[in-house]
Amino acid sequence: MFAALPSVEKLAQSLVSATTLPKGLVVGLIQKETTAWREKIKAGATPDKAEIEADITATVNAFAASRLRPVINATGVCIHTNLGRSPLGRRAADALNHIATGYSNLEFNLPEGTRGKRAGYLESALAIMLETEAATTVNNTAAALVLTMRHLIASGKKEVIVSRGELVEIGGGFRIPEVIETSGAILKEVGATNKTHLSDYANAITEDTALILKVHRSNFYIEGFTDEPTTEELSELARAHGIPLVEDLGSGALMNTDQLAPLDHEPTPQECLKKGIDLVLFSGDKLLGGPQAGIIAGRADLVAGIKKEPFFRAVRCDKLILTVLQECIDDYLAAHAGQLPDIPVLHALQTPPEKIQERIEMIIAQLSDLPAEISCVSSTASTGGGTMPKSAIPSFALRISPQKISVTKLAKRLRTGDKAVVGYTEEGALQLDLRTVMPHLDSDLTGAIQLALS
Ligand SMILES: *Cc1c(COP(=O)(O)O)cnc(C)c1O
Repeated sequence: MFAALPSVEKLAQSLVSATTLPKGLVVGLIQKETTAWREKIKAGATPDKAEIEADITATVNAFAASRLRPVINATGVCIHTNLGRSPLGRRAADALNHIATGYSNLEFNLPEGTRGKRAGYLESALAIMLETEAATTVNNTAAALVLTMRHLIASGKKEVIVSRGELVEIGGGFRIPEVIETSGAILKEVGATNKTHLSDYANAITEDTALILKVHRSNFYIEGFTDEPTTEELSELARAHGIPLVEDLGSGALMNTDQLAPLDHEPTPQECLKKGIDLVLFSGDKLLGGPQAGIIAGRADLVAGIKKEPFFRAVRCDKLILTVLQECIDDYLAAHAGQLPDIPVLHALQTPPEKIQERIEMIIAQLSDLPAEISCVSSTASTGGGTMPKSAIPSFALRISPQKISVTKLAKRLRTGDKAVVGYTEEGALQLDLRTVMPHLDSDLTGAIQLALS
């Protein structure tokens, strides 16, 4: 009855060499699939051996493709959430390698020979860079937000005042009203979607107000008949009532984005703090260009209180993240005026379009005699990652119209090749924007295109 089922051992051998997955994994997958086929046969199916083998091979191949691996990002989206947001600079990656493969002084005071403060260096460096009293880090901004609110409602006052124009979804179904609920706080919405006045905030303040929360519109914009109080006005109001004012900034642009590229000015944490925000929260892996992390910075008493929360222990960063973030912040602090830190996202944003065009011409020169029309076209890149929704950065792309295969097929071949390349289709051709391809990957990209077209 089960004669059509393949020999697990034999099939495993060929799939292990084709996918380079560990043998135990391949055997496990095949066993799971053959069990499913056995059930189907019992239920009356009459597959032949080739059909079952093809099915199992497809499953194992799809599984192999889901393994975390490097990708050449030719989408023109600099911070691509699906492609791992911000790549790290060489120096940070090297430091990571050093710390990861040995012991470190993570919580050890070397001069004293006693227990030391975890992340003490990083926290001080962050505070100095942000010109504020104190800072700390957790796993991501979502965690920073929940943690901060849990701390600020610990006194028993539970209401969080937020403008209706800022009750946003951040991404991955993560919505501000739900985060507020998760923390145990009670949301008090004020104003309207397009307009919230200072008096709306003022009228909402009661004995139960724990904080006023501002949420930066990082992934959308509203235009037209709009109004909101300035941060300074809100800060004055909050201060008069002894209520903390917190801002969830999201992007974490530490540089002036308008100096990097033709971009709008993204508010920096430094600016928010100067305008009177008590605590600012932002991501490590968006415009900051570092590892996934949530940074909390501002008033020393609030940061100290947050660090004492039992929940802080549940969301604290591990030594690998702390190492990378330490190197990134050092890079920012070491950069001379007019010079960029070793942060790939910033370099991608700052590259002049002509440089990108030159690289594409070089690549095209190496792509002769292929069955495709290949040209260099102007394109539009963006910052991405739920940051600066209006960003439109002039760029150039390699445009490929294949003659023997479809564009869909070409795109799939590039995505699933030895060097995975992700581009986008535009008006019936595949485009590869080189703003987001690191120059040292140009030869890999050229090879991948040659292979996919031949
Ligand atoms: C992206 C974003 C977050 C979430 O940041 P993570 O670090 O990904 O958790 C929170 N708030 C705002 C405004 C954001 O833009």
